[in-house]
Amino acid sequence: MSCFQQISKQLLRRNVNANLIKYKYSSTSGGFNFTLNDTQKEFQELARKFAKEEIIPIAAELDKTGKYPHDILKKAWALGLINSHIPEKYGGMGLGVLDGCLVAEELAYGCTGVETALANSTLGQAPVIIAGNEDQKKKYLGRLLAEPIVAAYAATEPSAGSDVNAIKTHAEQKGDEWILNGQKMWITNGGVANWFFVLARTNPDPKASAGKAFTAFIVEREWPGVTPGRKEINMGQRASDTRGITFEDVRIPKENVLGAPGAGFKIAMSTFDFTRPIVAAGAIGLAQRALDEATKYSMERKTFGVPIAKHQAVAFTLADMAIGIETSRLACIKSAWEIDNGIKNTLTASIAKAYASDVANKCASDAVQIFGGNGFNSEYPVEKLMRDAKIFQIYEGTSQIQRIIISRALFENVKQTM
Ligand SMILES: Cc1cc2nc3c(=O)[nH]c(=O)nc-3n(C[C@H](O)[C@H](O)[C@H](O)COP(=O)(O)OP(=O)(O)OC[C@H]3O[C@@H](n4cnc5c(N)ncnc54)[C@H](O)[C@@H]3O)c2cc1C
Repeated sequence: MSCFQQISKQLLRRNVNANLIKYKYSSTSGGFNFTLNDTQKEFQELARKFAKEEIIPIAAELDKTGKYPHDILKKAWALGLINSHIPEKYGGMGLGVLDGCLVAEELAYGCTGVETALANSTLGQAPVIIAGNEDQKKKYLGRLLAEPIVAAYAATEPSAGSDVNAIKTHAEQKGDEWILNGQKMWITNGGVANWFFVLARTNPDPKASAGKAFTAFIVEREWPGVTPGRKEINMGQRASDTRGITFEDVRIPKENVLGAPGAGFKIAMSTFDFTRPIVAAGAIGLAQRALDEATKYSMERKTFGVPIAKHQAVAFTLADMAIGIETSRLACIKSAWEIDNGIKNTLTASIAKAYASDVANKCASDAVQIFGGNGFNSEYPVEKLMRDAKIFQIYEGTSQIQRIIISRALFENVKQTM
C-alpha cells in the first residue's frame, strides 16, 4: 500500500471525528478563524504531495498530447481527492466546500488541466446534491463512489452560454418519459462522463419566465441518442476533455427529473454557489505556481551582474503577485466558509471567482515577463500557465457575468435601504 493510500485510509477512518472537529472550528459563533483543522491540514498535504509526485511530472506531456488523465483520475479517486463532498449518507466523506477548495488549489498548482478534469465532476454532481431525491442520490452519487468515473454538467449550447435563458435544447413529456432533443457545447468531461446533468427547456411558451421554463435531468451517457462530439483543441487546460454533445430523441424516465419540472433554471444557477469557490481555488493554485516559478527564476537569472530579483521592478512585480494571491485566497475562503455554514454566498462566490481569475491571468502573464524570452518558450513552465489561466475568466460564468451578479447585489442592497 502506498503512503498516499495509508494516509487516505487513516483520514477516512477518522472522518466522523474529523467532521465533529470541523464543525466545531467552522462554527459561525466563533468569529474569524483561519486555523485549519487536522483533517484539512492532512488533506491539503496529501493533495500537495499528489500534485508534486503524480501531476507535475507529466503535466507538460498531457498538455502536448491532450491525453485525458485517466491514471491520475484513478489514483485521485482511490485517495478520496475527488468526490469528498458527497454526503456520508450516500457513502461519501461529507466534507465541505472549503475542504474541496484546499484540495483544488493544490491539484491546480500541479496542472489546472488535470484539476479541471477531476474537479469538474463536482459541477455535474452538485445539482444532484442540491436537488436530487434519495433514490437519485443513492444511484448516481453512489455510482461515482463505486468506481473511478466522472459526471458532467451540460447547460451551454453553441448559441447560448452567458444567456442561459436562450438555450434551445428541449424536452417533451410523453407518458412516463421525457424526450430530449438538442445540442450542448463546451462540456467539460463530455467524452468521458458516465452521466450528465442536462438543462432543457420544457415550456414551449417563449414568454415563460426562466424560473418556470426549464427542467433539469440526469441523463446517462449510454442511453440511445446521446452522442459526444470530437474533443475540442483548446488554448490551454488541454488535459481536460471538452466536447459538444448531441441529444437525439433521448428517452428519459420521469424518475430522472431533478427537483420539479420547471425548476431547472434555479437548480442550474444555485449549483454555482457550490462550485465557484472551487473554481477560484483552482485559479489561485495556478497563480501560486506562477509566483513560485517566477520567484525562483528571478533569484537565479542574472542581468547587469546581479540576479534580476535585485531589480526593484522585478521584486515589486513579485510582491504584487503575492498581494493578489493572498487576497484572492481570502475571498475564496470566505465564500466557501459561507456556504459551508449555510449562509447565502452567491455574491462572495462571484467576487472570489472573478477576482481569482483576474489575478491568475495577471500572475501568469507577469511570470512570463519575468522569465523574459524563456517565458515564451514551452521548455519552461510559465507559458503553459498563461494559456491555462485564460479559461478561468470564461467558464462557470465569464468575468463580465460575475460583475453583473455583483453589481446587481449592490443595487439590491441600496433598494432595500430606500
Ligand atoms: C474549456 C471550456 C469548458 C467549459 N465547460 C463547461 C461545462 O462543463 N458545462 C457547461 O455548461 N459549459 C461549459 N463551458 C461553457 C462556458 O461556461 C461558456 O463558454 C461561458 O459561459 C460563456 O458563454 P459563451 O461562450 O456562449 O459566450 P457568450 O455568452 O457568447 O459571451 C461572449 C462575450 O460577451 C460577454 N457578454 C455576454 N453577455 C454579456 C452581458 N450581458 N454583459 C456584458 N458582457 C456580456 C461575455 O462575457 C463574453 O466575453 C465551458 C467553456 C469552455 C471554453
